[in-house]
Amino acid sequence: MERKIFQLGDVVQMKKNHPCGSNEMEIIRMGMDIRIKCVGCKHSVLVPRAKFEKNLKKVLRSAEELPQNPL
Ligand SMILES: [Zn+2]
Repeated sequence: MERKIFQLGDVVQMKKNHPCGSNEMEIIRMGMDIRIKCVGCKHSVLVPRAKFEKNLKKVLRSAEELPQNPL
């Protein structure tokens, strides 16, 4: 099975929509577990990496393609 490529800051589409109706999630922390934030309602959830990869449909926007965030 093809390994999905994703990195911190990417906006991804999951197989299931978030209860709020949005299906876009932003990766805000990576490690053994991955924290993703719903773009629609800003709710964040921590999911095990294996589960995340299983539920990941595709990467919508890669962080590298976006301009730097002025923080
Ligand atoms: Zn949501």
